[in-house]
Formats: sequence, C-alpha cells, structure tokens
Amino acid sequence: MENFDYGIIGGGPAGYTAGMLLAKQGYSVVLFEKDKLGGTCLNRGCIPTKSFIHSSEVFATLMHAGEYGISFDNINFDFSKVVEKKDKTVEKVRKALELSVKNSGVNVIYKEAHIVDKNTISTNEGNYRVKNIISACGSKPRELKGLEFDGEFILSSDDILNIKQLPKKVLIVGSGAIGIEWARILSNFGVDVCILEACERLLPIADIEVSKRIERIFKQKGVKFYLNNTIKEIKDKVVVLANGDTVAPDFILSAAGREAVCANDSNCKLLGDACGKIQLAHFAIHQAAELVLGVPYNKQYTPSVIYGEPEIAWMGLREQDCDESYTIKKLPVSALGKAWCDNSIEGFIKVITKGNKIHGAHIISKEASALIHTFLVAMENNLSINDLKKCCFAHPTYSEAIYELLLNL
Ligand SMILES: Cc1cc2nc3c(=O)[nH]c(=O)nc-3n(C[C@H](O)[C@H](O)[C@H](O)COP(=O)(O)OP(=O)(O)OC[C@H]3O[C@@H](n4cnc5c(N)ncnc54)[C@H](O)[C@@H]3O)c2cc1C
Repeated sequence: MENFDYGIIGGGPAGYTAGMLLAKQGYSVVLFEKDKLGGTCLNRGCIPTKSFIHSSEVFATLMHAGEYGISFDNINFDFSKVVEKKDKTVEKVRKALELSVKNSGVNVIYKEAHIVDKNTISTNEGNYRVKNIISACGSKPRELKGLEFDGEFILSSDDILNIKQLPKKVLIVGSGAIGIEWARILSNFGVDVCILEACERLLPIADIEVSKRIERIFKQKGVKFYLNNTIKEIKDKVVVLANGDTVAPDFILSAAGREAVCANDSNCKLLGDACGKIQLAHFAIHQAAELVLGVPYNKQYTPSVIYGEPEIAWMGLREQDCDESYTIKKLPVSALGKAWCDNSIEGFIKVITKGNKIHGAHIISKEASALIHTFLVAMENNLSINDLKKCCFAHPTYSEAIYELLLNL
C-alpha cells in the first residue's frame, strides 16, 4: 500500500489548490479525481459559461456595430461554433492545469475514492495510506420537487452545456448568478427568455438597488420575469404558474442553487463547495490557501460577481442591512468619459461607509469584476477612506469612479 502525507478527494479548485500548495511545501500528496481536473468550475461552471457569455456579447455588440461607426451586411452566428469555442477554451485551460498539477509533484489518480478511516482512502484498485485526508468533492445542481432533471425538458446547469441548438423560448427557474448569466447568454442570442423567481425581486441575495436596476435592464432588453411566483403544475410542457399565468417554453433551466455532494465526515477536513457555505471558486481557493499557508481572511469579504453586460459585483454590507448610522453614496457610470466611449453608461458604483471605513460596495458597470477588488483590498486590510484617497486613480477609467465617490465622502 502506498503512503502519502495527504490524500485529497476531488480535483476542483479547492482540491487542486490545496494539493499544489502542499506539494510545494514538501509534502507527498495523492489527489483522486473521478472525472476531470478542474472540477465544476472549469468543466461545467465558471469557464464554459463565461465563454458562452463572451460569444453572445460579441454578437450583441456587432448587432449594434453602427453605433460605433462600423457596418456589416450580414451579422449571424453558428451556435455549433459557439459550442466548439467553449469546448476548446475549457480544453486549453484544463491542459494547462493538468500540466501545473503534474509539475507540482501531486500524484493524480483518476478514480472515484472513498474514505475508509482517518488514514485510509480506497478506490476500486486498492487502498492508499495517508496521514491526513482532505475532502473537496464539490457540489451538484439542486433538484426542486416537481422539477426533477430529465435532460430534455427540465435541464440543470450541467445539461444546458450540452444543448446542440438554441431554444426559441426558455423558462429559467431561479435568479441567482447562474439564472441571471444564462438569461443574458440566451437573450443576447435572441432567445425569448422568461425568469421565474420565488422571492419578491430578481437576484434576491444582492443589494436591493442592484436588484431593482437589473430588473430595469432586463425589462429594457425584453427579458420577462415573474416575481413572488412559483410553478403550480406542468401540463404537456405548458407551465402553469401559481398566479394562473402560463408559459410554454422549449425547455426549463432549473437554476435553484447547488448542494454539497459529501456530508461532513469527522475523518477529514472539508474544503470548497463541499462545505455547503459560500459556493464560489475563489472562496474554495482561498480556503485551501488558508488551510495550507495559514493565510487568514474575513469570509464576510468574499466578493460576488455576475458576468455579462454590464457586470455586477458586490461585497460587504448591503443597503438593506444598514441603519441610519451608515452613509450611502452612489455615482452613476454615465458620469465617466470612458463609459461614453465604450457605449456602456448603464449602472452605478455605490459605497457604504461608516466613519472613515468602507463597509460595503455594490457595482453595476463594465469591468465591475475588476473594480470590486479595490474595495476588497481596502476592506480586508482595514484601510481608511483617507488611505484610499491618497491613491492616484488613472483617467479615463471606470476605477476613477471610486476616487470620485471617495472625494465626495
Ligand atoms: C454554471 C456555473 C457557473 C459558475 N460560475 C462561477 C463563477 O463565475 N465564479 C465562481 O467563483 N464560481 C462559479 N461557480 C461555482 C464554482 O464552480 C464552484 O464554487 C467551484 O467549482 C467549487 O470548487 P470545489 O473544488 O469545491 O468543487 P468542484 O469544482 O465541484 O470539484 C469537485 C471535484 O470532486 C470530484 N469528486 C467528487 N466526488 C469524488 C470522489 N468520491 N472521488 C473522486 N473525485 C470526486 C468531482 O468530480 C469534481 O471534479 C459556478 C458554478 C456553476 C455550476
């Protein structure tokens, strides 16, 4: 039986990050992956969806090329090529990851693994003796009662990656990150999109003003949505809602969250989505770094990002969490010269402060995924507003909105 310092189950962001960091520290590591390295993030999550988003946005931008002084005779897309581009992207990123993991000295075993006891991991080819076990088995799409995935009419976020052609009409159940991103992809390609949300606003986890603005943007784009509503029944592929309305989609994308795949096991340390807490790739990576390197961090300051045009990003307190002791300042993106150059004037940057400190930031803007990190660095390091004001933000950029906001505090 082979002996290792660490046995890791799961080769997603949590597992491969922990494995490579441990190997770098000189530990012998064996990592078990039953499918492909990169996990949900690389193979079924972050990366494939962002490739689809980008293709759909290139198309949407070209449809308005005239606004940039550019003309085309025929603008069209071939969905099979869009899928091909997504597949190539995932493959290239995975090949690079496989090489990095190999070069780090981690031993990868492509087998389903199980914990036997606190020092033994088994596969169908035998047992491995390890001093420590890390379980980073990830999560799977949550199935709602009455909306069990069948891969044809009721699709999960995994299933939708395999569609060969676009639907004419789709019903998306749930308006979290996955639901919003797919609504953007499909509507950019001209699909008739309808979202069903059980809560009273879209993107219910976000700042209330962010939700309201997304609702406005979706209305302008012709994306329909039902709030405070659920499915009463489905008859012959016609969805009857609780309020009596009916929707007849080609299929339903059920995007109602994810659930951890492995229950807590006292024989191991759990990492990433398997913890069932914050199910984000960067959280999984940071957790792995905290475990191996002892880098402390404030989980409350984990940024959330939703991709598409305009991007949405936030962290920290939301407006609905604050009492009058907090100050809330907002700057519209239309105040920025760069935004006008890019034809991206939709959105705002909003900051929540108390005294001389930042407690929350909420952004709807092109480049929001990058902008949020200025707030992250400030909040995580307890920098004051005055510390940030010392920084000379470049012009013309979206970042200078942060500086302008701070000057007004
Ligand atoms: C559509 C979609 C879009 C997303 N977009 C984003 C995004 O933009 N940003 C973001 O931060 N997050 C995003 N996420 C979430 C992100 O993918 C997860 O948070 C991240 O993958 C979690 O990493 P992990 O390592 O904990 O688990 P996973 O990535 O799920 O990896 C777990 C791995 O363990 C393997 N495994 C499980 N059981 C066993 C076993 N018994 N033996 C061997 N191997 C096993 C699985 O095959 C899998 O490869 C998205 C998710 C989805 C579904």
